[in-house]
Amino acid sequence: MSWNNKMLIDGKWCDAANGKTIDVINPATEEVIQAVAFGTREDAKRAVQAASRAFKKWMKTTAYERAKVLKKTADLMRDRVESIAKTLTMEQGKPLPEAKAEVLHSADTFEWFAEEGKRAYGQVIPNSMPGKRHMTIKHPVGVVGAISPWNFPITLQARKIAPALAAGCTVVSKPASQTPLCLIQVFECLLEAGCPEGVVNLVMGPAQEIADEFLENQEVRKISFTGSTEVGKELMRRASDQLKRLSLELGGHAPFIVFPDADPEIGAQIAVMGKFRNNGQVCIAPSRFYVHDSIKRQFTDATIRLTQKLKLGNGLEPGVEIGPMFEKKALTSTQELVEQAKECGATVATGGKRSDRFERGYFFEPTVLVDVPTTAKLMIEEPFAPIMPILHFDNLQSVIQAANNTRYGLAAYVFTNDLTTAWQMAEGLEAGIIGINDPVPATPQCPFGGMKESGLGRELAHEGLEAYLETKYLAIKLGE
Ligand code: NAP
Repeated sequence: MSWNNKMLIDGKWCDAANGKTIDVINPATEEVIQAVAFGTREDAKRAVQAASRAFKKWMKTTAYERAKVLKKTADLMRDRVESIAKTLTMEQGKPLPEAKAEVLHSADTFEWFAEEGKRAYGQVIPNSMPGKRHMTIKHPVGVVGAISPWNFPITLQARKIAPALAAGCTVVSKPASQTPLCLIQVFECLLEAGCPEGVVNLVMGPAQEIADEFLENQEVRKISFTGSTEVGKELMRRASDQLKRLSLELGGHAPFIVFPDADPEIGAQIAVMGKFRNNGQVCIAPSRFYVHDSIKRQFTDATIRLTQKLKLGNGLEPGVEIGPMFEKKALTSTQELVEQAKECGATVATGGKRSDRFERGYFFEPTVLVDVPTTAKLMIEEPFAPIMPILHFDNLQSVIQAANNTRYGLAAYVFTNDLTTAWQMAEGLEAGIIGINDPVPATPQCPFGGMKESGLGRELAHEGLEAYLETKYLAIKLGE
């Protein structure tokens, strides 16, 4: 099988100007899937110039014309779900059903913004002085540089490209270096759907160089970044030079809180499903489990039993529920987190090591830890790993305090059937996304993003469209 391995600049598929490529590795087999174009800042500059030229025409198209392109893109992605999902599983590792869900969720995002673009309304504001009239109109921000990570290579670009295009902006995308292939297939859909040349561009290359072009080129008016908090902070510092618009979707460390009225068996099923999806490599993955003292035994036993049943393997094989971790470095850092937690006093209830069932591939056993002290590194830093630390609590105020005791504020999960408890938690938790009895809250029509050091702004929903629009205020003085 061979893949399109080129960048897309100004409507043309091209190699890197310097001819360089990078090998994309399958984390389940450690084999090279395909060498892919890996350009330089020069390629990024050409892409920005193309996007800037295209912006002048694209911004003048109607929201209805743009909607047709976005809707057709969604349709093509749905038609090609099998092939795009297979590529995604091969380069990223997630099981095929999860990969298909990612492609379909992303198609839904394109379709939703196709419609929402038609609702970029301004306002008419009542005047206080006779003879004056006031209103606002919306204006697309301009060329957008979109940078995304490897854990959801399609979803996270779709959340940027779809609203940007709907708003009338043009885009230069930079995917994670190790997961460009499935996104190239999505860009094929965009082109075939009628996206004019230069409106969307895809550039692979060294992150720092591409980011330098985005940050220093006056034509780039906005950077939309999803990735680590550390890189997000660096971009924010540097974006201040030109006061570039910024959207930042950064790391998380979500608490998962189970109250005594919740069924511990159902709570455990949901916890295991939420925790080990994509091997815990999810920004909104629950990563600290607080269980009320009165049900901790039943919850922990059920969790261990369910975790041990999970089928680990190559994501292309039927029935596999957990794939390999994304890269070798992640295996090492996961092992280090487990060892460091053990040194602090934690006990491994199941897992805790690289799986010895596989000769090749980055397979780590889904892991449950108990008696985890708050000093363990995985309780402080975002773990991004298939590790489930179980802790206990005895009252609502203390668990709110523990849950909020972090620099992150992306997601939080609460399990209870008590309306008052649910409401008190919703008001008390410092998180941009709160799932109440719901472990998978993300959906195109609802806002997604974090508080504190988890980010700036929101993606998806109407806020996700507004992020690509400026508001212009018009004051009109009428004649006598
Ligand atoms: P990362 O190192 O920050 O990389 C993310 C993207 O930024 C990649 O395309 C990477 O390129 C690029 N990059 C790396 N260094 C850069 C720099 N100095 N300047 C500009 N771009 C740079 O993040 P990661 O560790 O791969 O991804 C996982 C992180 O993303 C986690 O913290 C996770 O929570 C977060 N995340 C957040 C959300 C959300 O919606 N809030 C969603 C998913 C993931 P290369 O691949 O070429 O290095």
